Formats: sequence, C-alpha cells, structure tokens
Amino acid sequence: MGNNRDIKALIKEMTLEEKAGLCSGLDTWHTKGIERLGIPSVMVTDGPHGLRKQRASADHLGLFNSVPATCFPSAAGVASSWNRELIERMGQALGVECQAENVAVLLGPGANIKRSPLCGRNFEYFSEDPYLSSEMAAYHIKGVQSEGVGTSLKHFAANNQEHRRMTSDSIVDERTLREIYLASFEGAVKQSQPWTVMCSYNKVNGEFAAENETLLTAILKEEWGHEGFVVSDWGAVNDRVKGLAAGMELEMPSSHGEGDRAIIEAVKHGTLPVEKLDGAVERLLRIIFQAVDGRKPGTVFDPEAHHQLAREVARESMVLLKNDDGMLPLKRTGKLAVIGALAKEPRYQGSGSSQINPTRLEDISEELARSAGDGVKLTYAQGYELNLDDSSAELTKEALEQAAQADAAVLFAGLPKRYESEGFDRKHLRMPANQVALIEAVAAVQPNLIVVLSNGAPVEMPWLGSAKAVLEAYLGGQALGGAIADLLFGDASPSGKLAETFPVRLSDNPSYLFYPGEGDKVEYREGIFVGYRYYDKKAIETLFPFGHGLSYTTFEYSELAVDKHELTDAEKLTVRVKVRNTGSVAGKEIVQLYVRDVETEVIRPDKELKGFDKVELAPGESRTVSFELDKRSFAYYDADAGDWRVETGAFDILIGKSSREIVLSKRVTVRSTTPQPLVYHRNSTVSDLMKSEKGKAFVQQFMSVLPFAGAAMEEHKEMLQAFMAHMPLRGLISFSGGKFTEAKLAEVIKGLNAEESN
Ligand code: BGC
Repeated sequence: MGNNRDIKALIKEMTLEEKAGLCSGLDTWHTKGIERLGIPSVMVTDGPHGLRKQRASADHLGLFNSVPATCFPSAAGVASSWNRELIERMGQALGVECQAENVAVLLGPGANIKRSPLCGRNFEYFSEDPYLSSEMAAYHIKGVQSEGVGTSLKHFAANNQEHRRMTSDSIVDERTLREIYLASFEGAVKQSQPWTVMCSYNKVNGEFAAENETLLTAILKEEWGHEGFVVSDWGAVNDRVKGLAAGMELEMPSSHGEGDRAIIEAVKHGTLPVEKLDGAVERLLRIIFQAVDGRKPGTVFDPEAHHQLAREVARESMVLLKNDDGMLPLKRTGKLAVIGALAKEPRYQGSGSSQINPTRLEDISEELARSAGDGVKLTYAQGYELNLDDSSAELTKEALEQAAQADAAVLFAGLPKRYESEGFDRKHLRMPANQVALIEAVAAVQPNLIVVLSNGAPVEMPWLGSAKAVLEAYLGGQALGGAIADLLFGDASPSGKLAETFPVRLSDNPSYLFYPGEGDKVEYREGIFVGYRYYDKKAIETLFPFGHGLSYTTFEYSELAVDKHELTDAEKLTVRVKVRNTGSVAGKEIVQLYVRDVETEVIRPDKELKGFDKVELAPGESRTVSFELDKRSFAYYDADAGDWRVETGAFDILIGKSSREIVLSKRVTVRSTTPQPLVYHRNSTVSDLMKSEKGKAFVQQFMSVLPFAGAAMEEHKEMLQAFMAHMPLRGLISFSGGKFTEAKLAEVIKGLNAEESN
C-alpha cells in the first residue's frame, strides 16, 4: 500500500481540528477534504453488487434514484457460482463503473455468515460456510481493487440478523467466533487487503463492534495485518472517542461536528492520546491518496458488455435443485405456458441500501420467447397478484386453462419484496399462499411443471412433489431473464451449487431456538454448528443440502491421490482428483473438498469445507483438479491456548458433489508440531494419566493398592473400569486404605510433571 507522499510530514502540518475532522464524513457519502493541504474529499458509496451513487440530494436508504448502473446478481446467487474467476471479473466491472462515476470506495462485499435463513439481509451475504464466504469476498475485492477503487468488507462482525440490528448484542463463544464468524472475514482480509472494513451496528460480547478494540485492533489490524481503515456502518457510532481508541477511524455519515468535537476534547483533556488520532489519520490519508493515485479520469463503461457479464454471472449463480425425468432442458417445439407475475415483474435484487437503478431490466417472459424461437407457441398468464397472499379465482382460471393446453408449464414464484429486506427479518420460510396454491393447481392439470424461484434465501417447499423441475434463480440481477432462458432451453448447463442448506422446515435450523434472541441479547448457543455443520452431524434430512446442484450432464470422479499419507501440521498436503464429463453436453462441475477429523477429543463437525474448484468440461473430457491443504485445513480454534491447533491423528479427505454426496475419500495422519504439554494435578483423572507413558506406568503400579481385585473386579468389571478411569488422583488416598498418602501424591505429581516437561 505504498504511495510516495510523506504522510507523516503532512500530519505534522495538520491542526488538531483538521485531524479530528478527517475522522468523520462531510455528508452521507464523502470524506472531508482539506484544501490548504491538498487533501481531497473522496466518495464512498454502496455496493455490493452494483453502484448506488445517489444524485445530489441524497438520502441514505436509497429512496431517491441513483445513477444507472449494472445490477449484478446479489451475493446469495453469486456465491452459488463458486466461481472465483467470474466473481473477480464482476468485481472488476464494478470497479470500472466506480471509476466512471468518480467513486473511491464501493461499500461491499458483505461477508456475514448466514446463521439463520430468516435474516432479512441474507441475500446480500454469501454463505453459511466461512471458507466459501471468505473466498467469494476475497475475489470480489480483488476484482474491484484491481481497478484502483477500494472496497469495504462488511459488516464486521457477528451481524447475523436485522432484528434490533443497531442495539443487539451477539454473544458468541470465542471458538465459534474464530472458526465461523470471523473466519468468514479473515481469509478475505489476508488475501485481498480490502481498503476499508466496515464495522457492524451490533455489539459483540457486550461491546459495540464500533468500539471493540479486540476486534478492530487486536484481531483485524495486528493479527490479520489489515492496512486500511475501519469505517462505521452508517450511524453505528455510540461513543466516538472510545471508537477511535478501539481502531474505528472513520465515522459515517457526518455527525455534524459532534464526533469531531468529542475527539478534540478528549485529546485536549489527555483522555485520548494524540498518537492514537495521528495513527487513525495516517490510515485514512493512505487510503484517500491511494484513491487519488488510482483515479482514471475519463473512464466510461460499456453498459452492453456489463449487461452480458451480468447474464453470465446470473447463469452460473442459478441452481438446478430438481430435474425429474430429464424435464429440463426444454425442447424448442410445442406449447409452453409461462405463468406467474414474477415473470413480468421480476424480483432481481434485494431491498435496502444495496438497491440500485439498473441500466436496463429484462422481462423474463420476453427473453423466454426470444430464446424459444418460432418453434414454440408461448402463452403468458399472470396467475397471482404479487402484492397479495390471497388467490384470485380469475387469475388462477386463466393460468390453469393455458397450462392444461400446453406441453409444459414454467411457473415463476418466490418471495415478493415485502417478504424480505434489509432492516427486518423474516418470521417464517413460507412463500405466499396464493403462489403455493397456484403451483398445486397447475400441477394437477399439467404434470410437466417447472418452477423457477426468485428469492434471496431458502423457502420451505411443501409443493416440491408437484413440480418435476425446480430452478433456484435467487435474485439474479438485471440480466436474469436471459440467464433463465439460457438454462431452461439448454444453451448452457446449470452449474451453480447451493452455498447454504435449504432445511425441510424452519425448526430444523440450528439457531431456531435462540433466534432472534431476547431483547438485545442474542446468544449463539448452537456454537460452531451452523448450517451443514449441524445438519450433517445430526444426520437431519434437508430439503437440499449445502453444495447441492444438478447439471444437464454427468461427472465421474476418480484417482483421488495425496502427495503424502503422513505429515506434520507445518507441512502442506497436495490432493488431486480426476473429474470427467461422462454426459453428452458441456458443463461445469464444482468439486468440493471436505476434511473430517477422525480421531478427536474435541467437539467437531462431521466435516468442513476446505477446498473447492470449478472446472469446465466438454463431453468426454477429463481434468485433474488439485488442492493444497495447510494447518488451518485441519485445525480447530483452541480457546484455552488462544491459537489454532491440530490434534494429532487421522483425518479423512473427502471429495463430494455436495456435503451429502461424498464420492471419494482418503485417510491421512497429521501430527501436531505444538503438542499440548500435559500438566498433572491432584484432580487429573486416571484416564488423563493414560495419555502418557509415564502416567501409564504409574497407573499400573498403583492399581494394586486399590481394593478392586479378584472376584468382585471380574463381576463388575465394566463399572469398576469406568469408575477407575474417571477417578481423580486424590481419590487414591481415600480408596487405598491408607497406602497412598498426601505426601506420596505430591511426590508423584511432581515426578509426572517433571518428566513431561523434559
Ligand atoms: C448498511 C450498510 C450500507 C450503509 C450505507 C447501512 O444501513 O447497513 O450496508 O453500506 O448503510 O448505505
């Protein structure tokens, strides 16, 4: 992050007022400039999947129109592409649009974990899995920043619900925070250095994220090495001075002088060291000048090319959930009934701060007609009122007539805007009753029923048995119509896989009992068991598992190989597997690698995603995909040690088509290079001692002093063995009939510990 200005010298020239002023916004979207020192004001704006640059009289929530920009699919869909290179290209296009509008920082991507499918903002987040989420975020960031425009990785951290989002307190144990909620940001920060990180509104373990020194300084800056600055979410500041001291450099939007005054007072009274303020100003100036240096004046973007890219992203973002009897792709002959208000009035983006004004918007039914060509007679019926939940007899009748006369029906359904948005959470996973009733009714007259869903998060599908095929289109952006047509008619094979589990019912979700908390208290009691980590461990049947997605072709996996069968956690493991397209059309397959800790004393998930790759294969073509695993691929977070730890033992490397469809596996042994020193004390149990040679020897020697021998021992063997195993050393005194004393115990413990520390 180098620029050759002498920033430290510049800071020396700044007055206290100028320094404090730089730490808050000029207005809703700009930083303050200092003309006399040549420090410009720069613009930051939403994000993440399109540019929302508002015109002059802007509000913060996007109620006023913004300049036209390409609307790419939202993150829920983008993550289902599992395509790093594609998301990087999307990021690059976003960067170009920012350049064209002189925007320095795009506010996104969002890397919060989908703890519950109810979170109103899940459409804007990538996944329930931290590895997939942080990889997607990393490549989004790389793309945007390659154009000399910054990003704001948000909302840091543990912001997993909209309900009371500005005051709620996410109470998360350290291991869960590290393994799930922070890991989702960590990879992206380390790999891609987002220019800024946006802290969230909520508290984390009692402290507002905006004032949380552990999160913002100890972890983000010091441990992960973040070089940019932290910006508050809009209005997230509670105590400005505390926030600055904790590592939150920029308050947004403007506090109209309040925050600046508080900082000035604190420095004057010595409660905020001026060095802290200087440090914040230095981080701010580095990024501001980086934006200046990255400026490409005169940039124009090609809306048509970006629209085509949006179509490509959308195509890869959609997931074919079901396809019985090879229902899809559709043939380009016969009669096709297109049904559903969502085909005319598409739901293509989420509501709230990410809502943008698209350069154009495709009408799905028109795109289908265009793609179908003259060979298909296509009809359209609205079927239901998008703004109501009650069925309309008239609309239903029209839809059924058309469906009955056709060879197949494609029904567009999903969630209307009023069902999901930033700002509130859903209460249930149901679709509007009129849509469900219509699906059932159409299925009764037309068995060849395809349902295309537009929604930002999972829905329950009690109607699933009525549809032969289901395509999850998510919120597909402005080019969703063309993408849907490409997939339905087979011009492209579906290649998305779910980045989240679709549960059968809401109550199956692990956070169900505790979501959205009591008042502001939100306890993450399910711990690390988020998403498939929970469903897989408990073998709970899902509607569609994490990683699931069908294709029009078939893939076969073979030749899984590892470069070593035994390694230490300081070494890397290379895994290779061959994938072959065994079907008759070209397609892309997402190869998923999961790791299972086989021998463990720690509570761990059944398996965890540690690698993935997407490969494109022509019919008959095969390719070898390779993965590199490192310590983190095998480790859990040891909260007592405050570090990542690998338990020595066996691990299975699993290759899957989804988290529930593991096709190949290989076992390796990984040895920890930081063995846990065994420290014995009077409450160490006999089974604890059995973990070391010295301990074992001691146990054998002292078993004889216990009165559990002979016939009694034989008769109650199991019970007595368990009793012994769980007996603390001090118990030997009570049970040895006086043969084992306190003095002897002290001597033994000393001997054991001396031996172990050698
Ligand atoms: C949202 C952020 C957004 C910001 C600016 C906030 O309400 O949480 O994601 O970037 O507003 O619009």
